[in-house]
Order: sequence, then C-alpha cells, then structure tokens
Amino acid sequence: MDERSRALFAEAVGLFPGGVNSPVRAFRAVGGQPVFISRAEGARIYGADGRPFLDYVGSWGPMIVGHAHPKVVAKLREQAARGTSFGAPTELEVLLGRKVRAAFPSMEMMRFVSSGTEATMSAIRVARGATGRDAFVKIEGCYHGHADHLLVKAGSGAATFGQPDSAGVPADIARHTITVPFNDVRALEDVFAAGGAGIAALILEPVAGNMGLVPPLPGYLEACREITAKAGALLIFDEVMTGFRVALGGAQERYGVRPDLTCLGKIIGGGMPVGAYGGRRDLMERVSPIGPVYQAGTLSGNPMAMAAGLATLELLDDPQAYERLEALGGRLQVGLERAAARAGVPVTVQRVGSMFTMFFGAAAGRPVRTFAEARASDVGAFARFFQGMLERGVYLPPSQLEAAFLSLAHDDGMIDQTVDAAADALRFVK
Ligand code: PMP
Repeated sequence: MDERSRALFAEAVGLFPGGVNSPVRAFRAVGGQPVFISRAEGARIYGADGRPFLDYVGSWGPMIVGHAHPKVVAKLREQAARGTSFGAPTELEVLLGRKVRAAFPSMEMMRFVSSGTEATMSAIRVARGATGRDAFVKIEGCYHGHADHLLVKAGSGAATFGQPDSAGVPADIARHTITVPFNDVRALEDVFAAGGAGIAALILEPVAGNMGLVPPLPGYLEACREITAKAGALLIFDEVMTGFRVALGGAQERYGVRPDLTCLGKIIGGGMPVGAYGGRRDLMERVSPIGPVYQAGTLSGNPMAMAAGLATLELLDDPQAYERLEALGGRLQVGLERAAARAGVPVTVQRVGSMFTMFFGAAAGRPVRTFAEARASDVGAFARFFQGMLERGVYLPPSQLEAAFLSLAHDDGMIDQTVDAAADALRFVK
C-alpha cells in the first residue's frame, strides 16, 4: 500500500462510512486498504503514488473502450464548454436514444435517468402501474440497485458483507418482493402457480454479474419469458451490466429473448452517471407527463453523460469490437484455467464475452449456477489471490461475488502478463 493512499484513507474513514462512497470499494472482503486512484488511461489505472495497475474493474463495467479514450474525452471537452446541464431537452438525448433503440429494438420508448438504481426502481413502478399488482419476483443474488424493495436477497456489496437484506427496509415493503433461486425453472413455476395473479413482474439480470458471473442455463430465459407471459406479468431484464457488454444488443440479443422492459446504465454513459429504462410503447406511455406513473430527474439526460455515452456507443458500433472482446476473454480464461490447474488450486472460471469470475474452492470445471453455489466459494482463497494479483500490478474486483471486466484497450500482451501474474499469485493461495 502506498503512503499517499494510506494517508488519504486515514482521513476518508472519518468523512465517509468505511472511508468510501460505495461499499465494495472499501476492500473489506479482501482485507487491507483500498488503493486511491489518481488517473487512468486505456487498460491501466494509477494509484495515488502513480503506480500503474492493469485494470479488470473498468469502473464496474462502463469503461468498455478503455479509460480516457481520446474520442470520449474530446466529446466531453466540447460539451463542457457548451454547458454541463440545462434541465431542458437537447439533441444529444435524441441521438443517444436513437442509438439505444437501434441496438435494443425491444426498447420502443425509453427514459434516461442518472443511475442504474433509478432505472430498476422506475421499471418496477411502471410494471406495478401497468398491471395494478404490487408483488414482483426477483432472483436471489441478483442486484438491482439499492431501492428498498430491491434490497431483498440482493447480490453485490449487499451479499459480500453478509447483509443481502438491508436494515432500514420496512417488512411491509419487503413482503411484496418474492425471491427464487437463479436458473431454477421449477421454483419460478411454483411461485407463479401460487400467486401469479398478483405478480406484476419478474426482474432479473439475464446474465448474473452480482453473485460473480453466472450465465443463464440453456432454456432458462425462454422459460422466464413464457411463465411471465402466461401470468400476465411483465418480464424485466436488468441489463445495467450486460447492455452493450455481452453483445451490442445485450443479453436479449445474445440469447434471443425479448423482455417487456429493459434497464440500462454504465456503458451508455461512457463513465458518466447514467441509467435508462424502456420497453414496450404501451407500457412507457404510462410514464409522466403522458401517463399516471410519476418519475422525474433534475440531471436526467444530462448533456455530459449523453455526450460520453454517444462517443462510447459510436466506438462500439463495429462488429469487430465484440469479436475482439470475445477473443481477449477466451485467451484470459484458458490462461487462468491452465495456471490454476498447474498450481493445483481448485478454480472454476466462468465467462460470458468480456465479463468473468474466477470462483475459488469449486472442483475445477464444476459450474456455479446459483447464488447458494456462488456463496459456497472459498472467499479466503479469493482474498489471498486478490492481494497477490494487486502486489503484481493487477487490479481485480475486490470481492469473490463480483464480475471482472475486460475492455477494448486490453491486448494479448496484457492478457499474457495477467496470466503470468496469476500463475505466480496462485502458488500462495493454498
Ligand atoms: N443493476 C445491476 C445489474 C447492476 O450491476 C447495478 C450496479 N452495479 C445496478 C443495477 C445499480 O446501478 P447503480 O450503481 O448505477 O445505481
């Protein structure tokens, strides 16, 4: 740990809970103190003392074209000089909306907001408003932001710190949230059979990224579509992580399943605060000011966020971009699997495109399919591996229950360097 980060953290713990403004950053799941970041460029972030790290967090997903991409920076500069917020509509919103709809045809109409939390919270409100039903189903270990009704058996930081059900959420609110395990069609059928007429929606991450990376089993998303349609409930895909990540058109393109509503965030803001929700026109026409479902935001559609998002989506509008991400991901996966096998450390590497997680403790190759299986991982082994990688200049997500991200700024040389670091770090994991 560098001296500057140590000094900053010492002051930060008196200013912010845990010294941070979002829990996982505090490194509590892996021990030690967080590195304070001074700048970033391409695939590298730099600590407070200027030390470079190969970055596999990418701001938790948005930085898919790499940090401080010159085209994104140029657009932001240009926009900053024209004004950073107007609280009135701009052409940029229309341009970004057009691009989002072209990639996500299911989002016939949408609304931009400022975070993923707002997107999911608002999508649930639309579903409740449209169906007149209060209950909804969520998946154990999926994380949809920190709104009260979504903090029930939530993944990500909530799971990492052993509080998948937050204090401060009234039982009266949580009782409308029904949870079932991921990848379990039978459990879904059962809750819809028992209460289908009262269920407004099923919300899920179509590729779960907040219990570590857990892909949907073949047929699972199709079953979600069928069961919700039969019950007159809406299907909401939370693609805050997977949108423009696992394919240009997200998981719904990759797996060919069309939801009623979709939530986006992260990449569409190119590293600026953003979110979006949208879907069937008849549903989105229920949103204010043309419908009775109220939702608003001072900074919604913020021109800086729209500009960074537009520049990022323009860079992604290239079929080779996703082929390249897939190839980089494949190279890394094979390298990590070989390194773990050689070191005799039981590890399962799960990956969809440029998102991946190394689960420790599972018999090598045995898949992790549910939150319960993810939580059975050896978090101690993960923590030792994380620290070993950090020492060797590789910055991974500081929790076993998070996905790591590659960017277009990574290259084969960096992947090989990462695999070498892993081969070395794994020797000290056992
Ligand atoms: N949904 C998913 C799938 C997410 O991964 C996240 C954040 N990681 C959110 C919603 C919440 O987004 P935000 O942190 O921007 O509120």
